[in-house]
Formats: sequence, C-alpha cells, structure tokens
Amino acid sequence: MSRRPTLFDMSADGKRCVRFPESDVPHIGADEALGADQVRQTSPALPQVSEAEIARHYAALARMNYDLDFGFYPLGSCTMKYNPKAIQQAAALPGWTGLHPATPASCAQGALQIMWLLEQMLAQIAGLPAVSLQPPAGAAGEFTCLRVFRAYHDSRGDHARTAVIVPDTAHGTNPASVARCGYSSRPLQSGPDGRINLEALQDALDDGTAAVMLTNPNTLGLFETDIVAIAEAVHDAGALLYCDGANMNAMLGYGRPGDMGFDAMHYNLHKTFGTPHGGGGPGSGPIAVTAALEPFLPVPRISREGNRFEWDWDRPQSIGLVHGFYGNFLVAIQAYAYILSLGAEGLREASRAAVLNANYLLQGLADAYELAYPGPCMHECVFSAQELQRETGVRAADLAKRLLDYDIHPPTMYFPLVVKEALMIEPTETESKATLDRFIEVMLTLHEEAHTDPQVLQSAPHKTPVGRLDELQAARKPVLRWQPEQ
Ligand SMILES: *Cc1c(COP(=O)(O)O)cnc(C)c1O
Repeated sequence: MSRRPTLFDMSADGKRCVRFPESDVPHIGADEALGADQVRQTSPALPQVSEAEIARHYAALARMNYDLDFGFYPLGSCTMKYNPKAIQQAAALPGWTGLHPATPASCAQGALQIMWLLEQMLAQIAGLPAVSLQPPAGAAGEFTCLRVFRAYHDSRGDHARTAVIVPDTAHGTNPASVARCGYSSRPLQSGPDGRINLEALQDALDDGTAAVMLTNPNTLGLFETDIVAIAEAVHDAGALLYCDGANMNAMLGYGRPGDMGFDAMHYNLHKTFGTPHGGGGPGSGPIAVTAALEPFLPVPRISREGNRFEWDWDRPQSIGLVHGFYGNFLVAIQAYAYILSLGAEGLREASRAAVLNANYLLQGLADAYELAYPGPCMHECVFSAQELQRETGVRAADLAKRLLDYDIHPPTMYFPLVVKEALMIEPTETESKATLDRFIEVMLTLHEEAHTDPQVLQSAPHKTPVGRLDELQAARKPVLRWQPEQ
C-alpha cells in the first residue's frame, strides 16, 4: 500500500505559508536576549511547505479519522456517550477558559459555586453525601477512594487489611489501582450467570480484606441482583464496598449505589455526563463517599457559608491532594450543564433509552450470534464469536475489521476477559432506531458472509486508508517515528 506523503515529503527549500516584510522595528537579537550559549546554531529540520499544503494535509488526515460526528460508535464500557455541542459551548465561555487556576476564591465565586452545586447533584445521584471533583479520571477516582479506605482503616488501627477483592469481570484499572495503593488484589471468579457468586465471595472475605470493588451494572452489562446481600457480607467482614460507577449511565435516577450499600464510588464524567472518553481530551472521575469516609477526602474541599464559597484546607485527616488545583474544571462545567439541561426526569430518560437500545440490539442479534450470558442486559450486551469461529474460522477481530468496510466503528473486543472472542456492544441512549436497525442488518450480513465467504472477513478491512495490519509485527517491531530517508 502506498504511504500518504508526510509534510516532510512535501517539503522544499524556500516554501512558506506566509511572508512578512522585514521588520523595521528595532529589536533585541536572540543572542543578546538569551545569551549566545542558549541559542541553537542550526535550524530545526522543520518541513518547508505552503499554506494550502498544510491545510489540505491536516484536513485529509482528519477525514481518515472515525469519530462520533461521522457515525455509530458502539464501543462497550468506554463508549463515547452523548456529547451535546451546546454543553461544550457552555464550557468554552471565555469566563471559564480564562480563569486562572490560582485565582483567589474571592474572585472565582461563580466557579466555586458551580463546583459546589455539581457536588450536591452527584451526591444525590449516588445516594452518598460527600463528593470530591478532584480525581482527573475514572482510574484516578478508584485510586483516590482506595487511599481514602486505607486512611479510614488506619484511623481505626486496622492495619492488617491489605487485600482487595476484585471480580474477574472488572475493568483492568481496578486491580491496577489496588496495586498502586499498596494493596494486593485478589481475583474473584464470577458465577455461571456472569454475576458475583455470593458464597464464593463469603469464602474470600476475611480479616485481611480491606475492600471489595464491584462494577454495577458489571462489565457484562448485567446488574448484580444480590447487591444488598453482598454489601451485608462485606460489611460483616469489616471491609468496605467500592462501586466502579463508570457504568452509571445504565441506572441514573433508578438505582443509587449508596442505597445499595456501597461506601464509595467514582463517576466518569467523561462517559456519563457530556464529555467524550478516549482521546477526547481531559477527563474527570469525581468520587462520592459515605459520611464516615468524608474526613479523609482530598483537600481542598469547598465550604459554603450563606452565599460565600471558600477553599477548605483545614482537614487534618485528609489524604491530601491527588491533582493540581481542583481537577479538570471544564469537564465539571460540561457535566453541570448536561445535568441541568436534562433535569432529573431527563437523566432517567437517558438511562431508560440506553438500556432499551442495548436490549433492542440483543434481541436483533441473538438468533445469529451467541450471547455470552442470557439477557436481558443493562446498557450493553456481550456476544461471543466462539461458535462462529468453530463453524467458519471467523474470529471477533475479523468481524470488527469487516465492520469498518460498512462505515461502522467496531464494538469493544476481547473484553471482558471471561468471555472468549467477546464482542461488547453498547449502542448508547441517543442512537435512532434506524441506526440500530442498520447495525443489526450489517451484523447479520457479516454472519452470512462468514459462512459463504469467510476470506472476505479474514482479510478485511478493504475500504479503509490502511488495510489489515500485521499485529504481531506492530507489537514486536513497532515503527513509532518517522525518519527521513537518507
Ligand atoms: C472507563 C472505565 C474505567 C476507567 O476510567 P478512565 O477514566 O479511563 O480511567 C473504570 N471502570 C470501568 C468499568 C470503565 O468503563
């Protein structure tokens, strides 16, 4: 396949974007301003190109990208959920973008008020009274909560608790956060129905258990039906129960982790509340905790007295700072605008539509594809291509590559790890019935192709700028840098 020319390929001596006339304003030379030893002696080898070449080059690259504004993006678990443009405009207002993070609280009352209000909203949605917006991502929220748990256990002289139980369906960030926190992670095998096996959990719990981390609904898109009994068992053992709330878009306004018995949770504002996840910019992983855990939350907290808002640093039991200033503020603005624009009933509606859409896909595909666990599901459904592979040799990866030829972004694959040849599909709440019907139709076509012409899938994609890559070589001998040809 021929390679697109880079800007360096197009470069020729003397080409320029703009030419300014020689300045007639006297100026200090670089040598004088910086000191001669600070000034480079040779020019950087930058490409010399015209303005049109640059503009066309980047426009062409942008067109090769697949994004939410181009088409359906059913990437389970980490999905780009609804990201309204109006919300992004609200966050782009110059008053927010121009606000220096070190502005004194007295001059940033509006910003503090919005953060305080967002904390109240997230506390209500969680059913947990205290919120910190500081962690800058979901994984950072997990890490922060585990540190809060640790500070809580330590404050009670309970130092022997060093193990955290993590089900085998959990997101990979869960065991990673456990390790970063100095705890050891103990995997828990899920039951035949894809949910926690209560007896296995009871057997695993002991005096050394600091916490149990659960995702609810879990990463198979299934709701943990035994959640109240699970919470009781965890608390009886003296441990704390953590909710990975990255999947909150499945139950906004329907179920509250606090009511289910969770002690703490994190949100992914950059999934559930109006900001894109994955290459879409900064994230935000606020945490919500019980009153018993509140003293340990990161500093500073926002305090309110009447209509005045202040940073409160005077919190002796706090675990300290986990991020500069107060987290990624503009993501918080987007979440605030999103929640206000939908309202309580709108949030419920969003979850209702997310679950309905996922079940619509589940029904539409269940005859052709093998469902990993029986439905109904919550916000996402997981299929396995294992049976298809046995019959036709076509793997989940081949289906994913072939989808690209139909202008559809593939679903999440090979996750969760407990499902062989997994295809994890999350349609989200805003896709129309027509889009879902087209996806089902294309998936059924692929199923047919697998039986009649498996090679077309195994060598896909055929219509993308780059064809099937050698994934082994890409991992073993990655080419990460362009080098000039000598
Ligand atoms: C996305 C996700 C995370 C991690 O969030 P990041 O912001 O990517 O760190 C954790 N758990 C689940 C279930 C997720 O889907």
